[in-house]
Amino acid sequence: MSDALHDKYSRQVLFSGIGEDGQARLLDSRAVIVGCGAIGAAAANLLARAGIGRIRIIDRDFVEPSNLQRQTLFDEADALQALPKAVAAERKLRAINSAIAVEGVVADLNPRNTTDLLAGFNLILDGTDNFETRFLINDYAVSSGTPWIYAAAVASYGLTMTIRPGLTPCLACLLENGNSTQGLEDTCDTIGVLGPIVNLIASLQVAEALKILSGHPEALHGRLLSCDVWTGRMQSIGVARHPECRACVRREFTYLAGEVQPRITMCGRDSVQIHERDRSIDLGVLQARLRPLVEDVRQNDFLLRFRVAPYEMTVFADGRAILKGTKDPAVARSLYARYIGA
Ligand SMILES: [Zn+2]
Repeated sequence: MSDALHDKYSRQVLFSGIGEDGQARLLDSRAVIVGCGAIGAAAANLLARAGIGRIRIIDRDFVEPSNLQRQTLFDEADALQALPKAVAAERKLRAINSAIAVEGVVADLNPRNTTDLLAGFNLILDGTDNFETRFLINDYAVSSGTPWIYAAAVASYGLTMTIRPGLTPCLACLLENGNSTQGLEDTCDTIGVLGPIVNLIASLQVAEALKILSGHPEALHGRLLSCDVWTGRMQSIGVARHPECRACVRREFTYLAGEVQPRITMCGRDSVQIHERDRSIDLGVLQARLRPLVEDVRQNDFLLRFRVAPYEMTVFADGRAILKGTKDPAVARSLYARYIGA
């Protein structure tokens, strides 16, 4: 390690749990974060500052003013430009630490791109906002033997668990097999979320990441941790491997096989996402065509957004679109066909 690097990470190297060897391992490690909302942004910030050598951030969405209350990597200029979160995050993280490799990928993780996007990383961090994507990550992680760290927060409550395939239970052990998922369908879009809980959960998640990536798995907590910053309640729960677990025992990777992925998914309150397969769109051409037909057309290098009252539509260059103002797949499909084309 050079003197400059040694100085940069000196407080972390002084910490006896990490030391010189641990820091060298961190600099040599690769982590991928799926989802760059509040938890993903906070985790990315901490990982970049800690000197994780290579960080990939995958996110499907763009920055909006309502994100800024808790998504600590973004600012008002990002929201004004409606920058994709993966792009805005990459820019911020490069400015924070130019000595590491940071790559933002604007994409929706799905069964067709999961292996391409997640292969080659030592660790996967959960920054997603939905269980469909988490089960997809769990399938990939268990099938490939890659550790991952589940993290979720809503309202003032959050939880996290570290999954090491072959050594610990997996997310399907915890949430499938008839265990109750009641309450898990609440989202930040329906009941809100506080900045402190997402940053707390991301901190717990990144501490686990540092243990794994610096070569200290013996320090992992091995529990399902949950916290509520409003009531002050903290819990640490032991989770057992389910003897019949679909994923880590029977090795049936139904999410990764694409058997569960619908073409249209809910994406927050009153909005749906349309996944179009293998379609690339020239946003400039589309913009010119739509300008006389719709209102408030805005475009940047990554997406095109416009309004057809009462709906707002955001189209990405890969053909994906997010429709705000409806929960009805038929309405979404019809608007997509009318404005983007079948
Ligand atoms: Zn399992």
